[in-house]
Amino acid sequence: MTISASSIVGRYSGQSQCTGDGVSLENRYWAGAVAIDLCYSIHYSDPFGGDLSPVSLSLLMLSMAASHSPCLRTCPPKAAYVHIPFCRRRCFYCDFPISVMGDSRRGETSRTVRQYVAWLQREIAATPPGPPLRTIFFGGGTPSLLDGSQLAMLLRSLRCRFGVEPGVEISVEMDPGTFTLEQLQHYRQLGVTRVSLGVQSFQNEQLQACGRTHRRAQIEQAIGWLQAVNLPSWSLDLISGLPGQTLASWQETLTEAIAHGSPHLSVYDLTLEPGTAFDRWYRPGQGPLPSDETTAAMYRLTQQLLVAAGYQHYEISNYAQPGHSCRHNRVYWQNRPYYGFGMGATSYVHGQRVSRPRTRRQYYGWVEQYEAQGGRHKEPLTSRQDQVLETLMLGLRLAEGVAIAPLIPLAGTSLVSILARCLRPYIDKGWVLIDGDKDDTITADSRIRLRDPEGFLMSNTILTALFAALTPAPQSCPQS
Ligand code: SF4
Repeated sequence: MTISASSIVGRYSGQSQCTGDGVSLENRYWAGAVAIDLCYSIHYSDPFGGDLSPVSLSLLMLSMAASHSPCLRTCPPKAAYVHIPFCRRRCFYCDFPISVMGDSRRGETSRTVRQYVAWLQREIAATPPGPPLRTIFFGGGTPSLLDGSQLAMLLRSLRCRFGVEPGVEISVEMDPGTFTLEQLQHYRQLGVTRVSLGVQSFQNEQLQACGRTHRRAQIEQAIGWLQAVNLPSWSLDLISGLPGQTLASWQETLTEAIAHGSPHLSVYDLTLEPGTAFDRWYRPGQGPLPSDETTAAMYRLTQQLLVAAGYQHYEISNYAQPGHSCRHNRVYWQNRPYYGFGMGATSYVHGQRVSRPRTRRQYYGWVEQYEAQGGRHKEPLTSRQDQVLETLMLGLRLAEGVAIAPLIPLAGTSLVSILARCLRPYIDKGWVLIDGDKDDTITADSRIRLRDPEGFLMSNTILTALFAALTPAPQSCPQS
């Protein structure tokens, strides 16, 4: 089996959430401004060699028990993602598989949405039961187009199938101008604890340039409502690198976000996705888009202003006041298992990564087949090689980085020397930091992490090198 390296972004990124800004986690994977285009063939021969010995198996169990290790095939998911693929209009930078509903229709008045919710419930009901959920995330699309009663139906399905732990985190992505105070109050009554508000910018001209349906007045109103209903946590999602955006206007947006007291901020760099209007109109780094130097300066400025304002830069693109990091998204970054329900959603359950079809019609057919198969998937188990790569590439997004020890049973002790060799130039530049007994040397007991902000900014380069080092050399195709 071969994959192209351009697909590693999607494969290693967990869920493709929108957070209302249309820049999927897939595309946010590389924090650097430069798009990656490796043409690499990976052959599924195991570069680490051999099966797991009983010794390495017990090491694995020990290390998993002792740390936030990659939770492998045996761990049941305690996180669920539910995808709601409806939006008022399509934003100019968005390549998500969504249905455009127009400016007047809402979930409760749309037969299409009602039908989709029913299919989602069928998929949830067909899934084998598991332990109570710790986090639930409604992403899109625009989940706030769902009426409270529709959200209630989906939550009821999840509670019936899995139950929820006390203190469950229930997040909903909401867009300004797509919900009312009464609706938000209803969501709160249903147990929603966290809202991710798709603001993107506080400047009307930038919102207009992106094709967003809301304007600043709606943002102000929506934030007022979030504060009024006493949500335990909420986030504002912002995009840097928009057309016409300058360092000064970006600073204004950040300053406003801080002034509103948002407990959490997600800050993404614009990506030009193939097939989008922006991709037709613009070229990266060329006007009216900011230059690469300016977007890098925006990243540094963001880190500087938000850390000074008391935020922890806990992930490449995410900042939180203490206690407000997103527990659900941490599941992806720590490469732990999760359910994914809905059109286009990905799940990672019992070692199988499963992607659902990206059109409604195909998704409905997929659910019927899933029911007929008794809630089982046919996808292969994730290989040990992929588990190691995924854990490193996702974990290095986090400020705390990745511990090496839990990966040794999967990769063998040779992993230490491979990492030491591959990362040496970046350690010397100060982009990669080593925590452990020997400060500057990677050992099995080390934890590696990227320096904030320079290491995060260069993560594209570093992760590309890691990917190449941890996969076998390309092999030429056999001649026919
Ligand atoms: S079209 Fe919908 S999914 Fe895409 S960015 Fe806009 S709000 Fe998000």
